Amino acid sequence: MKNDYIAYKTISALYQDGEQTNRLMLVLRTPPCEYNLCTMCGFDNNAGRNIKLQNIKKQYQNGIAGVNFSDIRRIDFPTAGSFYNDRELSPESRNYLFSEVSKLLVDSVMVETRIHYLTEEKVRESKRYLRGDQIIELAIGLESADDNIRNKVLRKGLSKKGFEKFADICRNTDSQLLAYVMIKSPTLTEAEAVEDAVQTADYVYRIANERGIKARVAFKPMFIPERTELEAQYLRGEYQLPKLWTTIEIIKRTIELANYQPNSIFVGMFDEDLSGNRFSSNCNNCNSKVVEALKKFNGTQDLSELERLSCECKTEWEQEVRGE
Ligand SMILES: [Zn+2]
Repeated sequence: MKNDYIAYKTISALYQDGEQTNRLMLVLRTPPCEYNLCTMCGFDNNAGRNIKLQNIKKQYQNGIAGVNFSDIRRIDFPTAGSFYNDRELSPESRNYLFSEVSKLLVDSVMVETRIHYLTEEKVRESKRYLRGDQIIELAIGLESADDNIRNKVLRKGLSKKGFEKFADICRNTDSQLLAYVMIKSPTLTEAEAVEDAVQTADYVYRIANERGIKARVAFKPMFIPERTELEAQYLRGEYQLPKLWTTIEIIKRTIELANYQPNSIFVGMFDEDLSGNRFSSNCNNCNSKVVEALKKFNGTQDLSELERLSCECKTEWEQEVRGE
């Protein structure tokens, strides 16, 4: 029951500025992504063809209705495509959202966009509607620092130069950077998926540190959205979802990176209403425990609980990863 007046809403744990807090995520229903070539993206299933300012207003108002903001420090506005593409979300709609956010207690607001639609001018305009103490976090789907994986396998159409320009815009507008990093793109084994994600995180932190900006890495353990090329591969038996032990290993290794910025890891736990039940998982004995621990990690950034997790299937996973 998709409705042009309802944004999908979820609240989840988040660690921000030294505190355990929460984020409210409103997945705005907007027109389809104009690019729409990525092989694993299911956001088209969340799009609405005829979205106007009036719809965005209603989606926002319905989204915040009944929410207790006393322990929410951040609001996220993913869309079906790019927040800063004027043809997907009008400047009036963006300005409406930011002026509403300025009335909330939240410290930061996250929006996602392809680099091609992002300009410093647009971000400055947004900031004029926020309070001076509120921060914009600009998010981009980098997915992998490997050009072949990013642009051939996933068809992101994003060069490293494009990503670095995105980071420049963050620096020049005092915004923070959030990079989405895919865990286990098609063609990668479980062991290669660990290497790819850790190297990608290292690249993100290096680019951010060179510019003196704050960055976070949002790992996305793969899931299978409907009506995507990835789904076709999955149904043909050509793709296997990663184990959650892979994600835990990636978190551990990322924290050890020389470039690492403190408390800057987030793990997307399939809460965008796109995955059905086909997402990264472990065995039935440990899965719910591990999922809960990962969700909790987002709020605490404390690795020790993840390290204490064990299960017979972890031994199997270790053999597979070491054996490859
Ligand atoms: Zn298990």
